[in-house]
Amino acid sequence: MSFPRPGKKKEKKKDPHKEYALVTYIFSALFLVMIGYLLWFLIARSDRFINNSYNSKRIDAFAKNTLRGDILDREGEVLATTELLPDKSEVRSYPKGNRYAHVVGYISNGKMGLEQTANYYLLRSHANPLLRAKNAFSDEKDPGDSLVTTLLDPVQQASWEALGDYRGAVITMNPETGEILSCVSKPDFDPNEMERNYEALAASGDGVLLNRASQGRYAPGSTFKILTTLEFLREHPAKAKKYTFDCDGSFTSDGKEIHCFHNTAHGEEDLASSFANSCNASYASLGLTLKPGEFRKTAQTMFFDKPIICSLPTELPRFLLEEGASDAEKMETAIGQGKTYMTPLQLLLIVSAIENKGMAKKPVLCREIINNEGRTVERFPLGDERRLMTEEEAAVLESFLRGVVEEGTGRGLMNDAYEAYGKTGTAEINSAGDCHAWFTGYAKAEGKDPIAITVIMEGAGAGSSYAVPAAKKVLDTYFSYE
Ligand SMILES: [Zn+2]
Repeated sequence: MSFPRPGKKKEKKKDPHKEYALVTYIFSALFLVMIGYLLWFLIARSDRFINNSYNSKRIDAFAKNTLRGDILDREGEVLATTELLPDKSEVRSYPKGNRYAHVVGYISNGKMGLEQTANYYLLRSHANPLLRAKNAFSDEKDPGDSLVTTLLDPVQQASWEALGDYRGAVITMNPETGEILSCVSKPDFDPNEMERNYEALAASGDGVLLNRASQGRYAPGSTFKILTTLEFLREHPAKAKKYTFDCDGSFTSDGKEIHCFHNTAHGEEDLASSFANSCNASYASLGLTLKPGEFRKTAQTMFFDKPIICSLPTELPRFLLEEGASDAEKMETAIGQGKTYMTPLQLLLIVSAIENKGMAKKPVLCREIINNEGRTVERFPLGDERRLMTEEEAAVLESFLRGVVEEGTGRGLMNDAYEAYGKTGTAEINSAGDCHAWFTGYAKAEGKDPIAITVIMEGAGAGSSYAVPAAKKVLDTYFSYE
């Protein structure tokens, strides 16, 4: 081991230029690393860092410099905007009133809906730098960026009107992309009046602020026969092909009697006609042949196991059929009564997967962010997908859903403008015979994207009498809209 002699070191120090150069190099390198990190943070990380709920106060501080941007439908229709009053105070206004209450939301007394999930984007500005420099000197606010949603106003309006005065929900989406076209929940509220009405609404106990389309949990009634059918096809593929049942209006096992709607005797049926007629006796009978453990596994893949992650607030549905369940529980589960609860959004994703060859697309509400001149700042990618069933299973279920419209409880949707598919449901909610009316399905026509729809009308009555006509109003509007 040797040490440099002091003398040698002294010799080196004789060249001051070299030393300065070294120091300059070190500082230049440090400077570049810092600039690099800053750029990386600004470009890659800061959005994620700032745009999380823990930073909501920091985001709201942006409002000091930015005039909150608009929320638009997919064609530019204004759903939320900020009006600047002469005294420079601001008012958030919702030109469509109640129609978008839950999905667009509000910003007074806390935030809800897209106003909450897109808060960060609406308070950023990608306006022209010259304008922003001018604003900085003149103490004016920069115009915030706007959110273009996937929603389509004519379909939203039709969904809202189709639900009428009933409580419940209507939700539609493109089954092949996951883009939500409409999302309505009632009872609703006027987001323009939230400042004044929030306390009363929150305390009303009516669940007015709940978005029933994604958070409402309901007995699925006969819409659940879609899952029962799939499970029967999986467990008994051979039996399913030659299945027959002679319906006399009811079916009894272990002392539990299951009735068809209005005790209608459906007569001789195969599996497709049992489904089209929504025959409870036939489904109670075949429900007894299903293994609870296997049925549970199938259900878990259909969003019963974890919440659906999307820009809508969601609730976990429920499927409770256990190994060793009684005949009564098996029969009730098979016809969608029992202890099963589903959300309208969940049913929408299941029928969408049938249309989309077995793949369920993640639902999306946001298309892009544009600046004040309409230039795209950021485009949101379409969501992930998840396989719910094989392509063959989807094809069989599709033929069954078509049978419902051609010769079953969905005949009200038969028309020349488009081809509809779906399943009705009439879910009993009490012993007095009150029922929720359901319809879930989709429709296609040449030259148009397909549309999937789920309708739930609380306490309305039979699905075929209430939910089918409501769905028809929405589908008619969508397919006649240019
Ligand atoms: Zn029957």
